[in-house]
Amino acid sequence: MDIKELISTVKEYGVAGAGGAGFPTYAKLDKRAETIILNCAECEPLLKVHRQVLQKYAYEIMSTLGLMAEALEAKQVILAVKAAYQKTVEAVKANLYSFPKLEIKLLKEVYPMGDEVVLIYETTGKKVAPGSIPIETGVAVFNVETVFNIYKAISNKEAVYTKYLTIAGEVKNPVTIKAPIGMSVEEAVGIAGGPKIKDFVYFMGGPMTGSIINGYDTISKTTNAILVLPADHTVIHKKSGNSSIDMKRAMATCCQCEMCTDLCPRHLLGQPITPHMFMRAATSGVTQDLSPFLDTMFCCSCGICEMYACPQDLAPRKLITEYKTRLRSKGIPIPKGIASKETDAMREYRMVPMDRLTKRLGLKQYDVNAPLDDKDLMVNQVKINLNQHIGAKAVPLVHKNDFVSKGDVIAQAEKDKLSLPVHASITGEIIEVNDKFVIIKAR
Ligand code: SF4
Ligand code: SF4
Repeated sequence: MDIKELISTVKEYGVAGAGGAGFPTYAKLDKRAETIILNCAECEPLLKVHRQVLQKYAYEIMSTLGLMAEALEAKQVILAVKAAYQKTVEAVKANLYSFPKLEIKLLKEVYPMGDEVVLIYETTGKKVAPGSIPIETGVAVFNVETVFNIYKAISNKEAVYTKYLTIAGEVKNPVTIKAPIGMSVEEAVGIAGGPKIKDFVYFMGGPMTGSIINGYDTISKTTNAILVLPADHTVIHKKSGNSSIDMKRAMATCCQCEMCTDLCPRHLLGQPITPHMFMRAATSGVTQDLSPFLDTMFCCSCGICEMYACPQDLAPRKLITEYKTRLRSKGIPIPKGIASKETDAMREYRMVPMDRLTKRLGLKQYDVNAPLDDKDLMVNQVKINLNQHIGAKAVPLVHKNDFVSKGDVIAQAEKDKLSLPVHASITGEIIEVNDKFVIIKAR
């Protein structure tokens, strides 16, 4: 398969990054990629998707990586897997003899190992320059489920209409399921036996970067977890603050201890992000030097500063994100051409072990097996968002009362934009369509 055919297939079948911002995968298929990295770092506590999918489908995923390497003419393919995922490592090693050009790299169990900048450094020793993207360093990173979706698109002509996700926390039977896209959060939690407690909050994504949601919200191409947490849990407390109160608290109590900067994973790699300097400038109204504000663009929103480092329980990440968003909305571009500084000599000792992070977040009791059960699930109704990833949303092609089959295209990619088509995740009748979502009732 050549690169043109590969790009057109992953675009046609709607493959986006299965997690994070969900970058459309076709846009990452670029011949500048000398190295392809399979990201099996499963970045956040409690998430158990990628390790299990790779363990079960190692052959399919590795053969697809071989094919991608051929199409991109990449020189190196590295499967980056945390050493702690012993069964996954065994599954990969058992298949390596079939794919001699593929290598495995074992990673430490630290957070945020899945951040592409950190992962590329740990895997290849290369540094992604501040404000640039991995392909500019000759590297393309794909996570496990994304590559499995590419496999399904090529081999089965199957579109992305399901999503693997872990359901954990205060549920009776933590589990990792393959849900139809558009399934409601409440229904998905029901598969895990439902909530065990009365006063709970639904949370989508990992505890570090996810957010509080409602039971009627739905699963998208990037949903990798649903957590059910007590309403008074530390994670819920940290995520539900109001940024104007956060700023006032910072003005009163930020003691400039620099712990946020000392543990910031991007800062440790020499990127110009110094959260304590931002807090000083923002809380004291300093405007002579704008760099602490512009440097917010280099923050990856990992949350180490506010969820782990700050002894005053302040929220640098939230305030930084707000600034970054405002700068972007004013059309201010990410500063380019800045070289990374030397890697901090203390980096090795300042990486955050997952176990310690999980304990610090008060999640240790929920860190249990969530076995993969990837049978097809039957649902009565799905509400499929047309904007499931970074880029332009899809344009609906269907009308009320139309009948669609699973896998049919229900919305097309917006022309000449970074965009992907959206497919029906169940067979049934369209009962509502607008420019934001399509609802299908099973028939
Ligand atoms: S860790 Fe907290 S108190 Fe210390 S400088 Fe950063 S924001 Fe301020
Ligand atoms: S969220 Fe905080 S720790 Fe993470 S990159 Fe941004 S400033 Fe650094």
